[in-house]
Amino acid sequence: MASAIYQLGEQVLISAFNRSPIVLSHGLGVRVWDTDGKPYLDFLGGFAVNTLGHCHPRVVKAVAEQADKLIHSSNLFYNEPSVRLAQLLTEHGAGDRIFFCPSGAEAVEAALKLARKYAYRQGERQKTRFVTALRSYHGRTFGALAASGKPEMQEGFGPLPEGFRYIPYNDLDALERAMDSSVCAVILEPVQGEAGAHVGSREFLRGARELCDRHGALLIFDEIQTGMGRTGAFFAYEHVGVKPDILTLAKGLSGGMPNAALAATDRVASAFRPGDHGATFGANPVVCAAGIATVETIVENDLLRHVREVGDYLIDRLRYLQTVRPNIADVRGRGLLIAVELSTDNKPVARLAAERGLLVAAGVGNTLRLLPPFIITKQDVDEALSILDSALRDALVTA
Ligand SMILES: *Cc1c(COP(=O)(O)O)cnc(C)c1O
Repeated sequence: MASAIYQLGEQVLISAFNRSPIVLSHGLGVRVWDTDGKPYLDFLGGFAVNTLGHCHPRVVKAVAEQADKLIHSSNLFYNEPSVRLAQLLTEHGAGDRIFFCPSGAEAVEAALKLARKYAYRQGERQKTRFVTALRSYHGRTFGALAASGKPEMQEGFGPLPEGFRYIPYNDLDALERAMDSSVCAVILEPVQGEAGAHVGSREFLRGARELCDRHGALLIFDEIQTGMGRTGAFFAYEHVGVKPDILTLAKGLSGGMPNAALAATDRVASAFRPGDHGATFGANPVVCAAGIATVETIVENDLLRHVREVGDYLIDRLRYLQTVRPNIADVRGRGLLIAVELSTDNKPVARLAAERGLLVAAGVGNTLRLLPPFIITKQDVDEALSILDSALRDALVTA
């Protein structure tokens, strides 16, 4: 059965991804099963999406009940779940006002458009440039692709939108040199996720805020991966005490359902007037109901504290593993956004781990990325680490 689906998939799907032959069928909590009935401990979490694990009863119930009432309406009308979710996000510090859209890249597009329109409405027509970090990841649409500091990802897709300047991440001097009166916004991830959990320094992020204020530019934090509790705070900006003007959210926002948001201060948000932007599927009541269930579950179960505790435990265990497995070059991260950088090829390690029942992502630069759900226990960590240990050992032997 699994191999038939795999073979059919190889024929009918576009090969934009490096898919493994595993065909997943169902999940519950931290575990997911393939169509042959084999269980996996899921430390990939659908790339930081499944914050409450698989099929959390609260999310399942919210989706089922809302699907039975109203699945889609349009943005010509209000619907209760989207208004309530926006209220929750503003209460937790995302910003004053929210725009919903279906995917992260669209939230980034909206952020870039809002920053340009804001400068335009201020009468600052020369302010059109963006400053962004090398190695950053902001999505795959043209604007988000131009904002991503990854030349290899942009290759063959030009011409890209103009006006982007790239600086090394955590390099405040370079940022200062890139700033002038033509810059409308600086866009940064507080922790570079896709690049392998590079944590933004307090000095850099605070300095970015000051430079933006000095040059009349907006600060955009792309918290699509770091937001909604992933780093142990609701938003990663809280760790450094730097508030952005615009913030983007997606991955963990709705407990597995596709949802994204742009949040902005009142002042900046007012640059968008009716007709300026849109998204047919934005503010969908079903995905927003799932978002409400997700936020409420995080709050009621004090999951942010748990993310910090179990995240520290996981990092400590990985650092210990580093002392006995010399092919671990570095362990980085914050909360449950963690990367293990190897000095050897990461793909055979990820493959062996999956064979032995642990899902992790093989990321850029020979990193293994660990993005488990917030509900993992120390026992889950111990189980994952013993599989990872054996995979690290045996991948070296067989290499
Ligand atoms: C995943 C990600 C995106 C893109 O989100 P999509 O939903 O895949 O479009 C943008 N920015 C960051 C920081 C991300 O991690």
